[in-house]
This record gives sequence, C-alpha cells and structure tokens, in this order.
Amino acid sequence: MIDLHTHSVVSDGTDTPAELVANAAAAGLAVVALTDHDTFDGLPEARAAGERVGIEVVPGMELSCSRQHQSVHLLAYGADPEDLALAEELAMVRGGRTGRLRPVLAKLAELGVPVSEEEVLVFVGSSPSVGRPHIADAMVAAGHVLDRTEAFDRFLADGGPAHVARYAIDIGRGVDLVHGAGGVAVIAHPWGRGREHLLPPSILTELVAEHGLDGIEVDHQDHDPDTRATLRRLADRLGVLATGSSDYHGTGKVDHDLGVNTTDPETYARLRSMISQRAPATGRTGG
Ligand SMILES: [Zn+2]
Ligand SMILES: [Zn+2]
Repeated sequence: MIDLHTHSVVSDGTDTPAELVANAAAAGLAVVALTDHDTFDGLPEARAAGERVGIEVVPGMELSCSRQHQSVHLLAYGADPEDLALAEELAMVRGGRTGRLRPVLAKLAELGVPVSEEEVLVFVGSSPSVGRPHIADAMVAAGHVLDRTEAFDRFLADGGPAHVARYAIDIGRGVDLVHGAGGVAVIAHPWGRGREHLLPPSILTELVAEHGLDGIEVDHQDHDPDTRATLRRLADRLGVLATGSSDYHGTGKVDHDLGVNTTDPETYARLRSMISQRAPATGRTGG
C-alpha cells in the first residue's frame, strides 16, 4: 500500500515524523510520503525512521497556494529543499502564516471567542509556522467549540467571520516553482469542500497545458464517489497521474487514517521515474 499525503507535528499533525513512519509501517504501508505544509523540516527524521522500520519514505511537501484569493494546495514530490527560489517562497508563506495570527485573534475576540496568543502557541509545538488548525485547537481547549471542524465551519474557514487573507502565490506559479526545484507537482484535493467552482476542469486543463501540472489527487476523503470518478476520467484524459492518499494528521483530523486511500503501484512507478528524470545531474538522488 502506498500513501502519498501525510502531516507530522512539523506542520499540523500530531505524530513526530518518526512516529508517523512507524505508524505507517504498522498500518501495512510499503511507501509513505511526508508532506508537511510549506516546510521540508521533517524529512531527515522521517527518512531515518524509514530506514529503521524498512519502509520507503518519499520526500514531499504541501505548498499553500491560492486562486482568486482562496486557498489551493499543491503537493510537491522530490523537490530539492535547497532550491533558492522555492526556499524563499516558503519563507514568505510561513511568515504570512505567523503574521496573521494576531489579526485572526483580534477578530475572534470581537466575535466573543477570545483566545490568547499563548494559548495558541501551546499547540504549535515544533512546527515552524502557526496555522489555523493550531488556533482551532486552542479554541477547542478553551471550550468555545467542540472540535476543529466546528472552529473552521463557524469562524476560520475561507470567507468565515474570523478569516484573514494571507500571503499566497497563484497555483500556476506554485507548479512552476516545484518544477524549478526538480519536483513533481500534484494538485491536492482539488474538489474538496466545494472547490469545484474554483478549479473547474477548464482550469485544471489549463494548469496541465500551460504549467505542466503532473497529477491530480483523486482519492481523498473530501471527495465523494462521483467526484472521484469525474476527476479520474479528467486525469486520464489529460494524461496526468491520479493519486490517492489519506491526508493523515494523526489525531488532528478524524476519518483520515493512514492508508484510507492509496495510490496504485503503476502510478507510483510513473511518479518515481518523473522524480528521477527531473533531479538535476549534480549528484542529487531524487530528492
Ligand atoms: Zn491540503
Ligand atoms: Zn494535507
């Protein structure tokens, strides 16, 4: 079993990278990709753990992008963490995350849901950036909401009363940056949470034609069976990868257990060969 989308405590999951890899092995996975938000920081620990427990760890990252001021996620596989253009962009994106903590807390206080910066930082742990899930966890701990879902649905979601727009690059530029760093770019859960209007087939087709988008995450818990079938046909027609993954966050997200969705071995073999073709000839071994 192959699962290409997971998060550790380095972003907003609850397992350390080593725990995540051990849990992946225990769940029967042969291959797992660590794809923390906007950072490569968990990869060395994950790879070392992979060698110990005997499963393959794919170096990944989930880049926060936007389209029409709404957030869109892009999975990068095998991208070089040392690539300057990508590293600079990641620093801006992470700065944008931390930079909007105070404005979001100010809005929450106005809405009668006060949470302090200290209360949020308790949940940030070793993560290099502060994200909305951390704020949601603090809201749960303060007893304002029952769980992360309620915090997002009532306050934090894009367009919600406590939402503050953040720095983000357009998805097309995101694909270019990932390619520039030698990586393979797969759009994450494109039609989850009502995003069909934002990324209709015409836009996905344009991203493939003009930016060389490499794949579409088809099997994801945010996609119902009809959505999956439509996206799979689209990916086949465009000749791009159709992946499946859990988007595991440890105990931070229910119904996203490791291996709940998987990528078939042929698709993974194509992904691997794309990664090795893109690796610069400077001795780097596929990221
Ligand atoms: Zn995502
Ligand atoms: Zn994710």
